[in-house]
Amino acid sequence: MPTRVVQKTVGDYAIVGYSLAGEETTIALPELNVCFDAGRAPREIVPIDTLCVSHGHMDHAAGIPYYLSQRSFIGTSPGRVVIHQRLAPHVAELMACWSKIEGHESPAEIIGVSDGQEVPLRRDLLLRAYAVRHGAFALGFSIIERRHKLKPEYADRTGPQLVELKKQGISIQNTIEVPLVAYVGDTADGPHFDLDHVRNAHLLIMECTFFDPEHVVRAQAGKHIHVRDMRKILPRLRNPHILLGHVTRRTDLRAAKRILQNHIDPVDAERITFLMDRPPRVRKPEAPGI
Ligand SMILES: [Zn+2]
Repeated sequence: MPTRVVQKTVGDYAIVGYSLAGEETTIALPELNVCFDAGRAPREIVPIDTLCVSHGHMDHAAGIPYYLSQRSFIGTSPGRVVIHQRLAPHVAELMACWSKIEGHESPAEIIGVSDGQEVPLRRDLLLRAYAVRHGAFALGFSIIERRHKLKPEYADRTGPQLVELKKQGISIQNTIEVPLVAYVGDTADGPHFDLDHVRNAHLLIMECTFFDPEHVVRAQAGKHIHVRDMRKILPRLRNPHILLGHVTRRTDLRAAKRILQNHIDPVDAERITFLMDRPPRVRKPEAPGI
């Protein structure tokens, strides 16, 4: 059965995705042309040019070959997969294996990155990778806009004067970084939540997997976030919008929302959205007489 993705707008961004622990996680931002994790590659992510894969667990990475092959099938440009540099050669091997099985090659651009490395997305937009705490080779990603602002000392100059200054090789602009979206993937609490481009992003996408008191040990063992950790994490975050995913099926989503509200400040509750919290399906009215 195809994945029934959720579509919603959080802050400035339309989100298309699906995220349940151990089953499938993929979260796409079509306006930014970026998808975080492949899940099982629902068709909605295929048109997105850049796929950032946070780590190698199957529920996040299984869709990589299908995403690449579907792009080849519809004749669009090769998909670009950004993944930890230690995993990138394995993805290349996997695609080589698939080309033997299928009898043709699905072209791909596989970019290996490590903590602190950047990949340009557009002229004014970049992707920055950073280490998170979820076993080996796990990365988070931030999408950062670079904006150029006229230095205040040149604010009263006319256009032609500014052109002249530029011609003289004088730098008239400051460059500032505006973090738009941060995705930390699967991770326990760690110093990545204190990075400026993570804690100040307009939208932070993070996991909160476990909610029941008896799941604390499970969260620690799997390096996941338990709702109890949110009390320590949230006061450090300045994000106006936080999207939570990767909730376990062991806890009903309505119960998870209630438990979260009991654990955190009401002001924090206002900035949190659960990805999988979708409106109930509208039932078709029954045909009369049946
Ligand atoms: Zn994982």
